[in-house]
Amino acid sequence: MPSPKPLNLTDELQRKFPAEVLSVLQEVGKVASQMGMTAYAVGGFVRDLLLGTPTLDIDIVVEGNGIALAQKLAQMWQADLTVHERFFTATLQWRLKEPVSTIASTNACILSRLDIATARKERYPSPAALPEVEPASILDDLWRRDFTINAMAICLDPTRFGELVDPTGGFGDLRRGIIRVLHERSFVDDPTRIFRAVRYEQRFNFKIEPKTLQLICQARDESFLAKLSRDRIKHELWRILQERDPTKPMRRLSKLRILSVIAPELCVTKERLEWMRKANEWLNWFVEKFPEKPLERERALLLPLFPTYEAVNSFSQRYQLGKSEKECGLALLKALRRRTPKRPSGWVRWLNPLPLEAALVLAAKRSSPNDPAWQRYFLEWRWARPDITGEDLKAHGITGRAISIGLQAALAVKLDEGADARRQLEVALRRAQQCQTSRR
Ligand code: ATP
Repeated sequence: MPSPKPLNLTDELQRKFPAEVLSVLQEVGKVASQMGMTAYAVGGFVRDLLLGTPTLDIDIVVEGNGIALAQKLAQMWQADLTVHERFFTATLQWRLKEPVSTIASTNACILSRLDIATARKERYPSPAALPEVEPASILDDLWRRDFTINAMAICLDPTRFGELVDPTGGFGDLRRGIIRVLHERSFVDDPTRIFRAVRYEQRFNFKIEPKTLQLICQARDESFLAKLSRDRIKHELWRILQERDPTKPMRRLSKLRILSVIAPELCVTKERLEWMRKANEWLNWFVEKFPEKPLERERALLLPLFPTYEAVNSFSQRYQLGKSEKECGLALLKALRRRTPKRPSGWVRWLNPLPLEAALVLAAKRSSPNDPAWQRYFLEWRWARPDITGEDLKAHGITGRAISIGLQAALAVKLDEGADARRQLEVALRRAQQCQTSRR
């Protein structure tokens, strides 16, 4: 019996992407074919297209030599090229300044990068070790992947453009909403897939299929997570914290008793997850208001889960967090012991010494994102400065620490009473002079 005609996704690609993206895909397929190779778009790109939520994060896999194809395309499109010989991969990146040709400029506007890899097979020398890789066919490449829904490809060759390649039943699982591994040793070979399974299950509201769930529990009970380096676990945890609603995968990881293995110091209760959810809302609110201010979201989102100073210290040591990350957690716990002040100057004294992330998480504990006083703190008070400077105080003979004490008093009277610069100077001088007299 002839095998059924493969599904062709050209119409879907046309419907979901601007013409420029389609022409990039066609061009990749054409150039590969001219070089005697076959190119495919793979993984998350295919999954998200079929889910109706297309992404511009495009991964290309080539039967042949991915690096040679990337070099050719980089030259044609005036793109920057980064090559990783060891992994048979390359990345094209477009710089947005002064593109040379039309195709280069269109690509740069729509796609900022394109990842190209040689189709490969993987062998895991020991559990949780990084795999050894060798060039192979697209089918081998798809069979080495994590889940069926991530193991599909779209052929870009001009003769078969748009054809879905789905050797593992990914399309069916996507329709049924199922996360399924491709073989029994999947989590033993690479336990990071446990985090990935939970991440996709919760992101798409899917279900981890029963046998796959059993394999996760088995890998957990047989301590395979302990074989992963701390860096790899932290990377996966951070990716989970980057999800739109990170509380869902965190709750699931906790229920599966995986968090208690990788981070026993985290306390995952209903209340703390609710706090994390609100912290996420506050972070979103802040990013919308101040898109240019850097914010470490992952660090902030974990803060509600630390019950004690010891928990912060132990987690920081386990995952080798930097000094500032650790201090952010400690400062928050300390600030939580104080009541919310009444006057703006009290807010500034209470919250300005905290890293922004900790202040936002504190906001999440004490309010909702439309609380006007908290909003005013982040919109105005945190950034407010007095209308006088240290030079003004120096001109009146004030020196040393008394200058900053005087300036604090000036800011307080500005925020609490709306005092003008003249009054701010008066108050600042009085306070600074008191300070100098008491020092003598
Ligand atoms: P998203 O970024 O939306 O989470 P993605 O599918 O783009 O999804 P990546 O981590 O960028 O995720 O991985 C790209 C593809 O590489 C995946 O779709 C999957 O096919 C494969 N892959 C990634 N990590 C693994 C892994 N640990 N084991 C096997 N295959 C993997």
